[in-house]
Amino acid sequence: MQRIFANRARTPEGWLQDVIVSVEDGQIASIQAGQTPQPQDRRVDILLPSLGNLHSHSFQRAMAGMTEVRAAGKDSFWTWRTLMYRFMEHITPEQYEAIAALVFMEMLEAGYASVGEFHYVHHQPGGTRFETMTELSDRVFAAALKTGIGLTHLPVLYTYGGAGEQPLSGGQTRFGNTVDSFAELVTQARAHASRILPGDARVGIAPHSLRATSPRDLAEALMLKDEAPVHIHISEQPKEVADIQTWLGARPVEWLLNNAPVDTSWCLIHATHMTDKETRDMARSGAVAGLCPITEANLGDGPYNGPTFLAEGGAYGVGSDSNVRIALTEELRTLEYSQRLRDLQRNVMIPGEGSVGAAIYLDAARGGAQALGRQAGHISIGNLADLVALDGADTALCAVEGDQLLDALVFAADDNVVTDVWSAGRHMVRNGRHLEREQIVSSYTRAIRSLIDAI
Ligand code: ZN
Repeated sequence: MQRIFANRARTPEGWLQDVIVSVEDGQIASIQAGQTPQPQDRRVDILLPSLGNLHSHSFQRAMAGMTEVRAAGKDSFWTWRTLMYRFMEHITPEQYEAIAALVFMEMLEAGYASVGEFHYVHHQPGGTRFETMTELSDRVFAAALKTGIGLTHLPVLYTYGGAGEQPLSGGQTRFGNTVDSFAELVTQARAHASRILPGDARVGIAPHSLRATSPRDLAEALMLKDEAPVHIHISEQPKEVADIQTWLGARPVEWLLNNAPVDTSWCLIHATHMTDKETRDMARSGAVAGLCPITEANLGDGPYNGPTFLAEGGAYGVGSDSNVRIALTEELRTLEYSQRLRDLQRNVMIPGEGSVGAAIYLDAARGGAQALGRQAGHISIGNLADLVALDGADTALCAVEGDQLLDALVFAADDNVVTDVWSAGRHMVRNGRHLEREQIVSSYTRAIRSLIDAI
């Protein structure tokens, strides 16, 4: 059993002082306020539930900073995708694992305890299968084991190259599966995960998007759902909305809500371009909106319709998606700022009155846990010990108390206020650094050099 002594802890009942949180088998076993620390306790200052990072494509971290050059004509999401496909021609399993390990380590150091890895690279360049079909999923599992992050692995069904069942081309051949081969892949990945990963790991499914699947494939793939989450990219770009409308006769979110059993086990990634009706209907479905504000800003996707969604009680969480930058506080503040810039208002991402930093942090913690199928998201007995500790003496936090600490965290601090992170009780970040940092960074540096040499 581990004991954490926190000067202050934010629970669903509010702030508690002098708290001992005991952790057994990865879960919170007890929470007691008004205690005196014992010599064996891990002493921290501010204790919060840590967030789940609900959407990541780890390998894209390797492209960070490489697509910020303006080419002749208008740059767009689609030119970013071109470089991503060049990476696809060359990336090896060893490089894939080294990049994923760095990404997961950086997430933990930023204060995330878990990740939804939306995993769509399955095959060798050209589309030939690896000898073990799940080779690259296994590499993600190895990275999760090395770093201790809580993994919700989401193998992706990617059948077509574009809306209307266009064939796969170029780099996309590494993603492609029929529904049958996808079923085999998911079954194997689940078997491997249950053999090597800790009990909090999950293997869900992720139909990539409406444009990369078909209505029939989607329906068949959903038979593999099991208890685990379903994630799908939707309505990220106006072009995608127009293509789906032409093909299926409805906007993507409208079509999905009318044709698939969307419920609280679903996570709709981006959902950026929605009508007000789609926004309200999606909120009522109980699905989590998977918002990726830094990536959406970087790719020029557009802002979310936050106020309408929140007014209907919609659940949301955040993801670092392209991993151009893994920064928890910046992710949350970019979400709020995107709404302020859109609506010419302040303090938007809260349905009523109160602390916006607390609303965003605590809502994203609950929504992220829901999207990842983790019993977590708040400090309560029986939940996984997904916890983060902060240094309240940092200049960004030292002058505030109570929920203003969360306002200061979201709007004024950087991730360097994080001192400790536990994922299902695995205490992987101490004094702001991951336990395996040196080895993970040197493997990453070697991998990225060899990948850049190859492309
Ligand atoms: Zn994505």
